[in-house]
Amino acid sequence: MSVKRAKIRLFVNAGLGAAQSVPLERAQAHYLFGVMRLVLGDQVALFNGCDGEWTASVTEASKRGGVLSCVEQACPQQNPPDLWLMFAPIKKARTDFIVEKAAEMGAARIMPVQTKYTNAERIRQDRLQAHAVEAAEQCGGTFVPDVADLQKLDAVLRDWPQDRQIMLCDETLAGACQTLKAQDAKKWAILIGPEGGFAPDELTRLRAMPCVSSVSLGPRILRADTAAVAAMTLWQSELGDWN
Ligand code: SAM
Repeated sequence: MSVKRAKIRLFVNAGLGAAQSVPLERAQAHYLFGVMRLVLGDQVALFNGCDGEWTASVTEASKRGGVLSCVEQACPQQNPPDLWLMFAPIKKARTDFIVEKAAEMGAARIMPVQTKYTNAERIRQDRLQAHAVEAAEQCGGTFVPDVADLQKLDAVLRDWPQDRQIMLCDETLAGACQTLKAQDAKKWAILIGPEGGFAPDELTRLRAMPCVSSVSLGPRILRADTAAVAAMTLWQSELGDWN
């Protein structure tokens, strides 16, 4: 018998399991009871990033709080491949877009990195993490990628784990026929540069790393947000969980 899935999906910071009670935060209670007008007994889909999706019913409801009770698991936990998306942050709305699309497309970790030509000096990690949660709620995923704080690319490369491959999206290869070659490695990271592209010495350093595969994303120079989506599509269809 297939389990009927509830329409509203909510990410919660609580363990999920049979008969488990889940207290709601104020904003969640406002959304469920104030905006969506749910009442006692109504069903909601819950996920927490590790216990799959659970159907839960409303057992207490007020404008400031409430409690849901888990009924049954609607689907098991599904984690994405071990793929990090590293990108140089750009304008706010476009950075939000990159985080949202990366979460939808199956990144396991999202890492904003500051390169030599990156304009942004800081990011709002909490806001970007909230975007990743929202994207997972919308797309039916049970996993939410961690969004890291902004780090210097230099420092990230200094401590780079040697068992993780880097797919370097290198704009100087635009038009060259250099695509991703299938490899056995399981751990990967995609790297996208800023609006100004990578500095020559960054490219020299990256190309010298044995774990780096440089790729072209076609004959045209893409904006960084377009490049992030194109690169995720390329990697997922070649090495990821799209086939
Ligand atoms: N200012 C750079 C130039 O004119 O060459 C373009 C930078 S592009 C807007 C931002 C990032 O997207 C690049 O650093 C690269 O990572 C990626 N990118 C864009 N188009 C690409 C392509 N055709 N091939 C590989 N990477 C690309």
